[in-house]
Amino acid sequence: MDADKLEHFRQILTQQLHQHTEQVRGNQQAALDMIADDGVKDSVDMSLQDVNQELQLRLGERESQMVADIDQALLRIDEGSYGVCQQCNQPISERRLEAVPTARYDAACQSVLEEQQGLDDIATL
Ligand SMILES: [Zn+2]
Repeated sequence: MDADKLEHFRQILTQQLHQHTEQVRGNQQAALDMIADDGVKDSVDMSLQDVNQELQLRLGERESQMVADIDQALLRIDEGSYGVCQQCNQPISERRLEAVPTARYDAACQSVLEEQQGLDDIATL
């Protein structure tokens, strides 16, 4: 991949990193606000509060994962391995990277991995 393209994806990823970092901060703040809110509540309010808190923490977890994925993609740009499938070493199509800038695998390997993941999930039930 040429330097201009790499720079293009670096900009997209940097922008996304910024957005998700803000979101993680927002979620954590919202969760903390709920914990800090120790006004008098009846039991119905309390359980609603617990549900909301759980939701916020889960959302935070997913955002944290996004941030980690973006971080790793930026690292691959620095290392010169960005845009190459980590499974079969074939270049990932630019169309796919435009849609999923954090993609680690090409479409073929991704679907195989997802299939294996799905089977693993079933096996653990
Ligand atoms: Zn591949």
